[in-house]
Order: sequence, then structure tokens, then C-alpha cells
Amino acid sequence: MEYDDNAQHDNTLTDALHDPWDREHLWHPYTSTIDPLPTYKVTHADGVRLHLADGRSIIDGMSSWWCVIHGYNNPRINEAAKRQIDRMSHVMFGGLTHEPAIELGKLLLDLAPAGMHNVFFADSGSVAVEVAMKMAVQAAISRSGSHKKTNFVTIRSGYHGDTWNAMSVCDPVTGMHGAFGTALPVRYFVPQPRSRFDGEWDPADIAPLELTVRDHADELAAIILEPIVQGAGGMWFYHPQYLREARRIADEHGLYLIFDEIATGFWRTGRAFACEHAGVTPDIMCVGKGLTAGYLTLSAVLTTSEVADTISRGEAGVMMHGPTFMANPLACAIAVESLRMLREQPMAQHVARLHSIIKEEIAPAAANPNVADVRSIGTIGVVEMKEPVDVGSFQRECVDRGIWVRPFGRNVYIMPPYVISEPDLRYLIRQMLEIIA
Ligand SMILES: *Cc1c(COP(=O)(O)O)cnc(C)c1O
Repeated sequence: MEYDDNAQHDNTLTDALHDPWDREHLWHPYTSTIDPLPTYKVTHADGVRLHLADGRSIIDGMSSWWCVIHGYNNPRINEAAKRQIDRMSHVMFGGLTHEPAIELGKLLLDLAPAGMHNVFFADSGSVAVEVAMKMAVQAAISRSGSHKKTNFVTIRSGYHGDTWNAMSVCDPVTGMHGAFGTALPVRYFVPQPRSRFDGEWDPADIAPLELTVRDHADELAAIILEPIVQGAGGMWFYHPQYLREARRIADEHGLYLIFDEIATGFWRTGRAFACEHAGVTPDIMCVGKGLTAGYLTLSAVLTTSEVADTISRGEAGVMMHGPTFMANPLACAIAVESLRMLREQPMAQHVARLHSIIKEEIAPAAANPNVADVRSIGTIGVVEMKEPVDVGSFQRECVDRGIWVRPFGRNVYIMPPYVISEPDLRYLIRQMLEIIA
């Protein structure tokens, strides 16, 4: 509908910006083929700017779904990609290895909390979650000798990806349980912690997890959760004490603890990984999104040596997973360059500075009567509305004002690339607040 409105104004430009063939044939994420929202054609991108097919450029407030941490068309990463592609783009990881994977593994373990020892490279965030859950089941059976310890407990309003097991631990109401019903494995869910990240800890928050694990420990392999920031399930930031309690409960009842750091990793929350806010090390940890700075799809699952060795002592004797593109050298070489860039900068100070600007600029939104809550952490700023946002008209307004923000549900938020300048960041947030107003 909106597409047709636009088409009346200027056919040439509209066809350049909103491609009719794309609309007819290409599926976009979570999009109807009968009544799709408009898509905007991007021709190229630089730094924090997306250049559109009609000649306009817009400031990206989304880091392309949270992954483009160093900005687009980054000269150093481009150079690393070109160097690697001239050597080899891919080689199988079964029986072979290569320097980009070795170097990336070293950099990851160096950055990760102490105790992480083994690295499994996978294709995407969702696949990392599948791998982590498979690891937990293999290790739990091997460690306990019980074939019953195969289920999972998680917190509501979580998001862990779009594949089957990942879907099964997404929020059962806002996630995809409705559409898939009995096709999904049934998991245990406990309420979302309500203690705010920067507020007081309410010990009542942990009681449901404690009780559920106490009652079902003999059928549970692991607790899986997103540390501190629940991302696509509602952009909620909860208290670090919850993670310390979850660690204690997992240890007391012989469960593994899986942290999904796919959204939070690589300084997004102000620390290299969100679990550092709590000083808690998981047994299994998933990273993705920012890992390749948004250049290629790659993820990794990090584990303690106890998890890795327990799996290897189990019935299968090996970790039962091995994708075709495991540890793709091109993706690894790009990730290596990105991690080196993170190491060379004082990231904690840099993110803290961006955070103070975000916090200051979004604060006025709290006075809007349609706004339910305003919150920020690291380079994430969220304005939670009282009613769901009309994404189509919101995005048209964004593009007209030179910014790119994609709300979901009641949440309007920004998660810009770390290279954003102060004027661009202020402009982005001010325009976003004007649209909300
Ligand atoms: C995005 C995301 C995933 C899924 O990653 P994909 O690369 O989209 O498969 C999993 N967990 C969390 C927390 C995420 O934010």
C-alpha cells in the first residue's frame, strides 16, 4: 500500500528506490509476500552512511542488525579481506587447518572471560545456539550418565535465533511458538527478571529459576540465557546479580550454564562481553553478529575444557557437528582484523563516551505521554512506547529525515556502529525523538 502511495509521486525514482521485481519475488525477513512493507535499495555504504538508489544518504542507527561495529567499507577490513581472498577463500576444516582460524581462536580466547578453552566455529548466530545446545546435551549425558538430562530452562522474552532449537528457547508468546506449535521441543520458562540493570536487586527475581531447577534438575542439561541484555525479545536490561545467582544454581544442581552473547559481545554493552558486568563465566558461550564486523556470516561457541573433554569422553566420543563452511578462512581473516582493531583502541572509554551522549539525548523522550520507558546501556538506546509502532510509516519518516532506525513491537531503539561521530549520533537521536513526538 505504502509502495503504491510513493509510486504516484515519481515513478523513476520510486522504481530506483523500491524495486518492483524485488517486491514481487524476494522474501525479506519476517515479511508478507501479499502485503510487504517497502524496501529501500542501497547502492553502497561508507562509515555510518547508507547511500540510497535515489541519491540520498542516511545515517545507520542499526549497525545492520547490530553487527557492523567498525562502519561500512572499512579500509583496514577491506584490505584484510582482499589479502585473504587472494590466498584462499575457503578450505574444508575436516583434517585441515589455517592461520586465520588459529589466529582468530587465540584472539577470542584472549578476549573471553578466563576459563574459556575450546572454540567451535559455526555459520551464524542461530547455528551457534544449536551447537551450544547440542554440546550441553552431549556433555550433560556424559557427565551424569543419565539420558534424561536433555532439556533446557530459559527466561521469558528471550531471543536466540530462528532455527528449531533456538526458536524453542525464544519467548513463547512474542517468539515463534504460536506459528509452529507442537513442532517445537517444549522447554521450561521462568519470568523475565524485573530488577533493572542500573537499579536495586530484588532477590524475588531469582526464585522461579531456583524452584524450576530444583524440581526438574534430573531432566535439565542447561540454563540458557542472554546475559544482561535481552535483545530482539524486548530490549530489556536486567541486573547482573541474576547471572551470579544463575551460576550458583547451575553449579548446585549439576546443570551447564550457556550465555548467548551474540548481540552483546564485542563491547556493545560497554564491556568486551556482557557477562563481565557480573564477573560470571559460563560453561558455554555463543558469539556472532559483531564477530566479523558485519562483513560475513560467522559465529563461534566457546567452552571450558571440562565441557569439551566431557563430550569427548561421552558415547559419541566427539562433538557431533561439522558444517561445510566451518571456520571459513575469509570470514576468519576479517574477524581477526576486526578484533585487532578492537584491541588497539581504548574500547571501554570509547563506548562510555558514546553512552553518555546516548543517555543525554534520549532522556527527553521520558516526558512524552506515549512513552512507557527510556533506557540505555553501552551503545544501545531504547525508547519503549506504550503502543506498538507502525514500522512502515516510521521508516518512511526516518528516510525522509536522513536516518535509518527499524523499530519492533513497542521498541524504538538505536545500536549504531562504534565509529559514529558525536554530531551524527546527536542528529540520529534527535530525529528519532521528533518522529516519536
Ligand atoms: C541475532 C541473535 C541470534 C541469531 O543470530 P543469527 O546470526 O541471526 O542466526 C541469536 N541470539 C541472539 C541473542 C541474537 O541477538
